Amino acid sequence: MKRHLSIHQNILELIGETPMIKLNKITQDLDGEFIAKFEGYNPGHSTKDRIALYIISQAEKQGILKPGDTIIETTSGNTGFSLAMVSISKGYNCILAVSSKSSNDKIDMLKAMGAKVYVCPAHVSADDPRSYYQVAKRLHSETANSVYINQYFNQLNIDAHYQTTGPEIWKQTNGEITHLVAASGTGGTISGTAKYLKEKNPNIKILGVDAFGSILKKFHETGEFDANEIYPYRIEGLGKNLIPTATDFDVIDKFEKVSDEASAHRAREIALTEGIFAGYTSGAVMQAVMQYAEKGEFDKNSKVIAIFPDHGSRYMSKVYSDDWMREQGFFDAVKQEQAAVEFI
Ligand code: PMP
Repeated sequence: MKRHLSIHQNILELIGETPMIKLNKITQDLDGEFIAKFEGYNPGHSTKDRIALYIISQAEKQGILKPGDTIIETTSGNTGFSLAMVSISKGYNCILAVSSKSSNDKIDMLKAMGAKVYVCPAHVSADDPRSYYQVAKRLHSETANSVYINQYFNQLNIDAHYQTTGPEIWKQTNGEITHLVAASGTGGTISGTAKYLKEKNPNIKILGVDAFGSILKKFHETGEFDANEIYPYRIEGLGKNLIPTATDFDVIDKFEKVSDEASAHRAREIALTEGIFAGYTSGAVMQAVMQYAEKGEFDKNSKVIAIFPDHGSRYMSKVYSDDWMREQGFFDAVKQEQAAVEFI
């Protein structure tokens, strides 16, 4: 690949065409070949660069946006960073309503990228006026010449991945992919990618990843909204307490739920085995791969693509902080004794 042997006109030209990296050690006891598509390699360090660029470009094409206008969104952080980056590059203002679950690192990065940030309580219902949905809607109605990205309910979120992530995976695997394992938040990544891949080969299995405390898996299985499924959890960006229309449940074969603790340890394990410094939901996806494998989902002919949605640098005060892990009760005594830093 020669894409970096020339001068790019701006940062946005670096979005997409993320690398695929074979997993060699972490999956060594499993049947099949396992490959990560590392979205942390995008210039904004997550898969959300794709939808930010795509949705804003579509709005420009339709004449909805002109320089100096305002982009507004609800976000767990990654979409915000990507929108702020695209906004700076293209000359828009950016206003973001984020969940209080977002790490401080993420919020500081949004501010560094010039966004105006509103931090909203995480554990209120979506129709509560303090929720980040309602705050974003209010800001949209109060701000002249603003566009509300509305990623959970925007079909363009799916289209962005149908146009980019899907074709990339098909090409990068020479059409040999047998399984896709992907996290679902808005559902844009898994739905758009799956739609493209299933059109190419309907036998490709699409395996979703959901969080304990989220509604998605149960809804997929029963078609019912079961509020009993909902309770607070730690992983940012994975799972949901409502049903996003940016999720096409028909193209997803099944979901597996993963825990906060197992996902956190898996993220660390990815770094320690493969040298890939990935985010919390990458740990969740890896944990799901292990659970799917345990349930007999793969065999020696499987070529499994796991999407790693973002970069580990976003989680220095969370998954990669020993103090945070201890506070969550995720370290047992044995692991604490193995601490790798000695203070002299
Ligand atoms: N991982 C992270 C870190 C995210 O921020 C998101 C988006 N909320 C996802 C995974 C899920 O991606 P999608 O919204 O496309 O389902």
